[in-house]
Amino acid sequence: MALEIGIVLGEDIGLEVVPEAVKVMKAAAAKVGLEVSWHEVPIGREAHKLHGHTMPEQSVKALEPLDGWVLGPIGHGSYPRNDPTWIFPPLRKRFDLFASIKPVKSYPNVKSIHKDVDIVFLREVTEGMQSSDTVVAGSAEFRPNDEITIASRVITRTGSARVAREAFEIARTRTRKLVTSVHKEPVFRLACGMFAEECRKVAKAYPDVELEEALVDGFAMKLVMDPHRFDVVVTTNQFGDILTDEGAGLVGGLGLAPGLCVGHEKAMAQATHGSAPDIAGRNIANPYAMIMSGRMLFEWLGRKRNEPKALEAARRIERAVEQVIADGKDLTPDLGGKGGTREMGDAIVAAL
Ligand code: ATP
Repeated sequence: MALEIGIVLGEDIGLEVVPEAVKVMKAAAAKVGLEVSWHEVPIGREAHKLHGHTMPEQSVKALEPLDGWVLGPIGHGSYPRNDPTWIFPPLRKRFDLFASIKPVKSYPNVKSIHKDVDIVFLREVTEGMQSSDTVVAGSAEFRPNDEITIASRVITRTGSARVAREAFEIARTRTRKLVTSVHKEPVFRLACGMFAEECRKVAKAYPDVELEEALVDGFAMKLVMDPHRFDVVVTTNQFGDILTDEGAGLVGGLGLAPGLCVGHEKAMAQATHGSAPDIAGRNIANPYAMIMSGRMLFEWLGRKRNEPKALEAARRIERAVEQVIADGKDLTPDLGGKGGTREMGDAIVAAL
């Protein structure tokens, strides 16, 4: 059965790094005989040019039947303000992609604060301190008078359990099989308490995986001092927002931070970095994060659809990327190399 995967280029450096990711994914798929049909779908500026909206119904319809897609960064900073046709495309909300998975991995010859770091973060992304991204109508923040602002936080049993389940599924595929649930239950007894309880309940179904719990403040400190002790980390929306950036900082920054947003049925490969207009069009953007996000999409679909060829394609991409980083010749300038975006992509394809 062929996988149906969308290509959403995004903007600025998206136009450079997404084609590299797709090039590498296509080459890996060909190597292992994985059938993929690819569908280019406009979102953002391109969609506005074609259909008068940054997330037109045509594009939503085109994404609906797909198994997943590769999404380039959206340069929303330059969108006209107060125009409802220029919105940051709410893809997570529209497709109920409830968990953001962010691996943090160090490489021997890439400058980083710590070596031998290999952590996978899972952040719940539909609840927490609600924002325009997560609220369907109205707003979760309001100011009854000029002195007071009130913001609310939502935690549900369903939302907590489903992100916890993803974390345990991932831990099961790893060597150490350890999940750290990060919260602040002693203070936020009901909200963090519910999240912690659901993680404990889910853990019972995974006797092969160990669950440990950590309070978010102490965890943030240990992550800086001793990141080697963590394997898979699961947490709520805002804690995760901060901790995943801290994690990326430990191993070399934005160019090295891939990500995958997952729902029950589909997933979206999305690097952590934004559209970086300052370096766009110069063939210097680091394609690592986008390529590794594509690798994650293959791995996740391989697991969910029981497709060993997709798992093998993901493994091969990982090995090829490791080899190119170890060789050090074709890396982009942010990694201390003299290569360009395209050259790094070509080297990874050659290593495959
Ligand atoms: P956004 O608000 O859209 O998420 P941001 O404010 O987080 O964006 P980015 O666009 O991610 O900012 O970029 C911040 C800086 O990091 C850029 O100016 C760029 O110099 C650098 N950067 C980001 N991504 C990459 C990359 N893939 N390769 C090299 N440098 C990058």
